[in-house]
Amino acid sequence: MHHTSLIAILVAGFVLAFLFGSLAQRLRLSPLVGYLLAGVVAGPFTPGFVGDQTLAPQLAEIGVILLMFGVGLHFSMRDLLAVKAIALPGAIVQIAVATVLGWGLARLYGWPHGAGIVFGLALSVASTVVLLRAFEDRRLIDTTRGRIAVGWLIVEDLAMVLALVLLPALADVLRGDAGNPVQVWTALFKTFAKVGAFIAVMLIVGRRVIPWMLERVAGTGSRELFTLCVLAIALGVAFGSAAMFGVSFALGAFFAGMLLNESEFSHQAATETLPLRDAFAVLFFVSVGMLFDPMILVEHPLPVLATFAIIVLGKSIAAYAIVRAFGKPNSTALLISASLAQIGEFSFILAGLGMELKVLPKEGHDLILAGALLSIIVNPLLFAVLDRREARELAAKRTAEDHEAPQIPDDVRDHVILIGYGRVGSVLGRLLTDHGVPLVVIEEEDDRVDRARAAGIPTVRGHAADERALREAVPERAHTAMLAIPNALEAGEIIAKLRAVNPSLTIVARAHSDTEVRHLLEHGADATVMAERELAHSLAEMVLATPPYRGARHLPPAAV
Ligand code: AMP
Repeated sequence: MHHTSLIAILVAGFVLAFLFGSLAQRLRLSPLVGYLLAGVVAGPFTPGFVGDQTLAPQLAEIGVILLMFGVGLHFSMRDLLAVKAIALPGAIVQIAVATVLGWGLARLYGWPHGAGIVFGLALSVASTVVLLRAFEDRRLIDTTRGRIAVGWLIVEDLAMVLALVLLPALADVLRGDAGNPVQVWTALFKTFAKVGAFIAVMLIVGRRVIPWMLERVAGTGSRELFTLCVLAIALGVAFGSAAMFGVSFALGAFFAGMLLNESEFSHQAATETLPLRDAFAVLFFVSVGMLFDPMILVEHPLPVLATFAIIVLGKSIAAYAIVRAFGKPNSTALLISASLAQIGEFSFILAGLGMELKVLPKEGHDLILAGALLSIIVNPLLFAVLDRREARELAAKRTAEDHEAPQIPDDVRDHVILIGYGRVGSVLGRLLTDHGVPLVVIEEEDDRVDRARAAGIPTVRGHAADERALREAVPERAHTAMLAIPNALEAGEIIAKLRAVNPSLTIVARAHSDTEVRHLLEHGADATVMAERELAHSLAEMVLATPPYRGARHLPPAAV
């Protein structure tokens, strides 16, 4: 089976990751948890299939390259500078606190100082993947709070890039067997010289050649070549710089991405490589999981718990205190603490390198993995608590606002209840108010409620199928109800409720198909207007209003 081991590990990796990832999603956990578990299943510590232990790390490395390339592509100096006043000291203090805590724990278990420092550093940096997922779900990226958190994360990422560069040079010192300080300084000097040379070459040559190449290829109009070009740049620069300058793949890829991110094609480059990046990032998490021995949870529960506490409590308390010290509101401090209370890919990379250089003991690596797994599992729960808090505050604010809005007159009668104030309802509402028709709107979306109220229309905020919202619009004294919502099933339910309160109400509803028309009429609507048919008639009329078709026979009315 040897010649198919690459295929076997790719297949097992993707299939297991898919299965466990979907399961995690079902359980409302981060899919990352699923990918890590898939790795545990494919690893040597659990029975059944065991993936090739030499191939997996290489595939993972491709994942790291593409992840770091993506980080570089999105790295924006401007975003960072905008929040540097808080992100820079915040991240540095937080890294220091976590590192000291990690080091303390390591010392407690009798590991050398070097191991403690690497262990602590690995606990100090949050996962970009986890944070961005949480933010995208909540549309937080473009908020002030979101920008602070992302800037903070960038500083952490940069610190980790630095740590990855310095670790090999300092390995001897950290291992505790530094005989000759001259050797250490030479190693450090060599590292800085190599990194300096690499950065110089990238800034002088790469900065011109790489975007130029991409723009030329984009000019050919071939999407395939464009994607290939981006991949060639990402992998080529990462591999080439590792071979020539001895810097890590990660640093090379990060720079390649950064040089591209000023180009106008950076967005397209990110989009085109996204599927491949996702696929290999998944393999990265799977291969990390393969290294994890779940027995640590049973055999050493206390150190696992302590590690977890450093990540979730130690780091968050530090972050919270710093953000508050900078005079930011409570909600900002809570959000930043919650988003950084987890660790992920960078910690794995750092732990992997630490183990390879024999600085970090195997238990340290396992603890980091266990801590990462647990903190990623818990992270959505933290966000759920925050969401609930925000919802409560929002509800209180709304009640206050509702008091100031145009009120429904106590003696309202013979009015029109307009349900839904979207594309259809807002136009309809204007037409009716222009003609002096008394109107009450029911709408569930906040910004549309605001718009209706700004137009001076008394508006009930809520779902029209909800008995309370419906009652507030006084249907028993209304003359007409107009349902301008797109969902006919919902509309049917609302109509039945309206009918029950007021049998003589005239009810008109919007529909989008013949089936919907039938459904609405069956539930008690007096008339319906089918949008698509009306649209067709209007379009036809437009053509028939101009020569040479003007004067053609008049069209029959569209309404049913
Ligand atoms: P449009 O399709 O653009 O005309 O938008 C329809 C509007 O109806 C949107 O503003 C929705 O928020 C609103 N809407 C849909 N269903 C309900 C409902 N059951 N109660 C109140 N408003 C609704």
